[in-house]
Amino acid sequence: MTIKRFIAGAVCQACGQQDKVRAWDDPNAQAMYRECVACGYTDVLAHASEHTSELLTRVNYTDPVFDEDVSPVRILDPRSMH
Ligand SMILES: [Zn+2]
Repeated sequence: MTIKRFIAGAVCQACGQQDKVRAWDDPNAQAMYRECVACGYTDVLAHASEHTSELLTRVNYTDPVFDEDVSPVRILDPRSMH
């Protein structure tokens, strides 16, 4: 169910009248619609998709840690043990 609410103080871009614009969200389209009841002007703002793409680009990749303090493995010569 869509709830259309008037935006207090909003001015229509088309006719310039105040308090005639109402807006509602469309969860399926991830967009916000604006409509002027005076002249019938409609506007669509796709806002949710921008946030989604922004989050996907912020994936942090952890760099592999190379431990430089690792000493080489000593190979014991069995002949030196005598
Ligand atoms: Zn208008």
